[in-house]
Amino acid sequence: MALIVHKYGGTSMGSTERIKNVAKRVAKWHDAGHQVVVVPSAMSGETNRLIGLAKEMMEYPDPRELDMIASTGEQVSVGLLALGLMSLGKKAVSYAGWQVGIKTDSAFTKARIQSIDDSRIKADLNEGKIVIITGFQGVDEDDNIATLGRGGSDTSAVAIAAAIKADECLIYTDVDGVYTTDPRVVSDARRLKTITFEEMLELASQGSKVLQSRSVEFAGNYRVPTRVLSSLTDPLMPLAEEAQSGTLISFEEDNMEQAVISGIAFLRDEAKITVLGVPDKPGVAFHILGPIAEANIEVDMIIQNQSVAGKTDFTFTVSRNDYHKAMGVLEQIKGNIGAEEIIGDTKVSKVSVVGVGMRSHVGIAAKMFETLAKEGINILMISTSEIKITVLIDEKYMELAVRALHKAFELDKE
Ligand code: ADP
Ligand code: ASP
Ligand code: MG
Repeated sequence: MALIVHKYGGTSMGSTERIKNVAKRVAKWHDAGHQVVVVPSAMSGETNRLIGLAKEMMEYPDPRELDMIASTGEQVSVGLLALGLMSLGKKAVSYAGWQVGIKTDSAFTKARIQSIDDSRIKADLNEGKIVIITGFQGVDEDDNIATLGRGGSDTSAVAIAAAIKADECLIYTDVDGVYTTDPRVVSDARRLKTITFEEMLELASQGSKVLQSRSVEFAGNYRVPTRVLSSLTDPLMPLAEEAQSGTLISFEEDNMEQAVISGIAFLRDEAKITVLGVPDKPGVAFHILGPIAEANIEVDMIIQNQSVAGKTDFTFTVSRNDYHKAMGVLEQIKGNIGAEEIIGDTKVSKVSVVGVGMRSHVGIAAKMFETLAKEGINILMISTSEIKITVLIDEKYMELAVRALHKAFELDKE
């Protein structure tokens, strides 16, 4: 007997028919003698619909109220799945995050999980129940509902798996694993049987939405065996086969087998902000980015230009969702920091190549830049880590860049 967490995404929960299939699959695992906790997302399109309603009331909705609204989609899902399981004769119980002590900070719309109380979950499991917990949400110390950011049910699932010390966390989704890049953009992308945790973390944090990056952080920090697999197969397929399918996130590097580049990630919705003509003196970066951080805006790439006549330009990127807020913050401090002008570009995207093999191979950056140059794509910003190279480019070339790089690094080949 093992203790398993299943997570089902929006498409997997997309209709009552699909939810019935999820129930059959979960029941199959339970019948095989496993204890199962299920973390579903809202039905596909539902979170967008809810956020759209909020925006009809207020252009930039208050984040606390937005979370109150956006979190309800998952509440419907857990209840429907519980009914689906009961109809199959299973004992099942659904909970919202707060009912099983999922505590978060108060960063509404992008909260972080701080702790989970496993007592109620464990008690139910020990009574033979299947426990179904809303993804995407928890409560802060004042009991305000907070959501974990788009795609946050992945993080709920892995965090719950860590808290209850599950043997495995299975992320069921609408593709059959992690691919060399988004298979919806590059048709000859290949499924990876395993991917190292570090590579998965880079891919996810650079935009591969197959897993929310915080879920990968949890998997790494708590060593949760995590697998990404399809929810669209026959729910009654042999369990042994299903258990080996998809992509396993591994904690070991196999240098012999390792390709230099494992995957390509991209993120369309970036925005670039440049603060022009600020006096170049100690503290510039701090005075610009300090208030941005206080407003809970994550900054990604950063460049400070060479100073000319004691003045410099300072450029950074944020998620396009945060652009309006970031510009607001900068307009307020513009006088204090002595900036001449603040300009922005919301039509930029980033593309990243990722692979642990970069540690032992040179020339990857050169090959990436050469490939983009051949396609006539101008690079606006560059950032690197030990296992990743990211470029910021004009949004309209993003898919072209991904396809060209996928081919140049021969990711379509075994
Ligand atoms: P869910 O609703 O199950 O959470 P998501 O839409 O959040 O599903 O994530 C799955 C999607 O991620 C896939 O449909 C695919 O288009 C996209 N995706 C992006 N990059 C990758 C990748 N490298 N491998 C697989 N899928 C990817
Ligand atoms: N329902 C939420 C979203 O659409 C969370 C998730 O699906 O993971 O972002
Ligand atoms: Mg998702």
